[in-house]
Amino acid sequence: MLTDFDGTLAPIVDDPDAAEALPGSAEVLSALAARLALVAVVSGRPASYLTRHLPDARGVVLAGLYGLERVVDGRVVESDEARRWRPVVAEVADRAEREAPAGVTVERKGSSVALHVRTAPQHAGWIERFAEHAAGGSGLVAHPGRMSVELRPPTGGDKGSVVEELGASLSRVAFLGDDRGDLPAFAALERLRAGGVTTLAVAVDSTEAPAELLAAADVVAAGPAAVLEALRTLLG
Ligand SMILES: [Mg+2]
Repeated sequence: MLTDFDGTLAPIVDDPDAAEALPGSAEVLSALAARLALVAVVSGRPASYLTRHLPDARGVVLAGLYGLERVVDGRVVESDEARRWRPVVAEVADRAEREAPAGVTVERKGSSVALHVRTAPQHAGWIERFAEHAAGGSGLVAHPGRMSVELRPPTGGDKGSVVEELGASLSRVAFLGDDRGDLPAFAALERLRAGGVTTLAVAVDSTEAPAELLAAADVVAAGPAAVLEALRTLLG
């Protein structure tokens, strides 16, 4: 059972720093981890963020920054790829902080940087243009998200490569997600399915849910509360 964090376990809030998983999430994930072959949180957040926000998620694999970081025995392990791109990302983040109009939030994640306009949607065009320009100049790749855009290293994977890697030895794999960044995970499920694995793609609905994600899902959950409820029922 593989799941996204923001918008799936944690309701979306204006300040990305203030996001919290719904109470009880870590306990339910731990209980599932004791019963299933694998429970993993696969997120665009840094791995250190995931350990801070799910400190009680025992036995749960935490994959951060789209797989560029992993928590192993409670310690964050960064890929070589992630390390190599840190200075480039820092430079772009510095520029974003200097140039961004008021209301744009620059979220520094170490090996990636996200620009948010949740509290200033009028600047959606600005972050899009900035990301396009910064991507062209730096080699980073711009990935649009819910009221945001993220600049990430060109290689080092996406949620799809994480799902494919973690799901490789399993006979049944489910992935839950709410945003465009989860589409590669759904695509990875398709590839696993073609190889004989039973898969379940769960989209988490919201007023901002991308139509292509809902269309690609086997099941749609109404929101993080519905996800938590469904995970609880798995415990029986
Ligand atoms: Mg999400």
